[in-house]
Amino acid sequence: MQIAKDKQSALLGLTLQELTDLAESARQPAYRGKQLFHSLYSERVVDLKQISTLPQDFRCDIDQQGFEVGLPAIEKKFVSTDGTVRYLLSFSDGQSVEAVWMPEGDDGESGDGTEAGEQTEVSRKDAARKWDRATICLSSQVGCAVDCQFCLTALLGVKRNLTAGEIVGQVCAILNDQQVSPPNDRVNLVFMGMGEPLLNYPNFIKAVGLFVEGVGIPESRMTVSTAGIVPRIYDLSAETLRPKLAISLNASNDALRTQLMPINKKWNLEKLLLAAREFQLRPREKLTFEYVLLDEVNDSPGNAREVVELLRGLRTKVNLIALNPGPGIAFQTPSQPRVLEFQRILMDAGVPAFIRRPRGRDIFAACGQLKRTAELTSNT
Ligand code: SAH
Repeated sequence: MQIAKDKQSALLGLTLQELTDLAESARQPAYRGKQLFHSLYSERVVDLKQISTLPQDFRCDIDQQGFEVGLPAIEKKFVSTDGTVRYLLSFSDGQSVEAVWMPEGDDGESGDGTEAGEQTEVSRKDAARKWDRATICLSSQVGCAVDCQFCLTALLGVKRNLTAGEIVGQVCAILNDQQVSPPNDRVNLVFMGMGEPLLNYPNFIKAVGLFVEGVGIPESRMTVSTAGIVPRIYDLSAETLRPKLAISLNASNDALRTQLMPINKKWNLEKLLLAAREFQLRPREKLTFEYVLLDEVNDSPGNAREVVELLRGLRTKVNLIALNPGPGIAFQTPSQPRVLEFQRILMDAGVPAFIRRPRGRDIFAACGQLKRTAELTSNT
């Protein structure tokens, strides 16, 4: 009996163990689970029919149990003049999120320049390739509950968490569309799209495992950004498999931070920085702090000096992001001299600070601009 479409569940998001259990429950040998795992995450099939090596009866069985691959559909694509592509991706319940393909990254993945200029074997050989360190910025929730005053996503509120399969599915859909395959092609992931990843912790961390073991993206090429969900920062620190951590600082004192990021009332700078200090870094790893510069609000030399004090003694670097403006956002982007002055104060005090390049501002693909703004741009 065919199960109704809305009852279907996704194979994408299942671990090797879960797929093996599925195979065994269908009286198939365990290695069929491995085969499914490989087809889903490494080959990134769109349809079960593509797995021609899978016995017909097993395929039918999976189908009849109501499973489908579960890749999100690409609803819209916006292409920036700088090569950045913003994707509107929709799921089976009609909800959608955005994810961004940045062929040359935005300098936020490494931020200290260590990755710039480094090339993989493959990219050197592939003369047609226009990039050598692409980055995908992905979403973890539909909307966001955190309510940062400078972020467009906040205007949506939070609709729901994404499943692990929906998190992984964004990357699979984009890799398919861009015809790119890790690990041969070097791809970085940043959990910096819509949502607060650490408020969707179990699905986020399950997706991390699937990226590493299935898709072929090492944890060292992933960064998760948080507004500062302190208990989950401790949890992340204890994980054996985890991305690098970036913390959205965005203000240099509690009064200002509470005004810009109401979450600061729950976990203030003292608690946040204690968690940062106790975070178990790997050898040579640095903690990243992100700081959105808002003209005449948090970008004065005095603010920069306060940041220096806050971060004293931490093995860290700071990514400065000049505000990406958006409709309904009451702040202005600072001028370049103000940004450079802020950076200089940090650098002079020995705090490495990097200015993130805004990628795809013209198509509302830059940090904080993801709001499913189909109505704002027309170049599909
Ligand atoms: N919720 C997570 C991840 C998503 S936001 C977090 O808060 O970290 C990713 C980054 O974009 C954060 O550092 C955030 O402060 C920054 N950001 C949000 N709105 C922005 C805007 N309008 N301009 C520039 N950066 C912004």
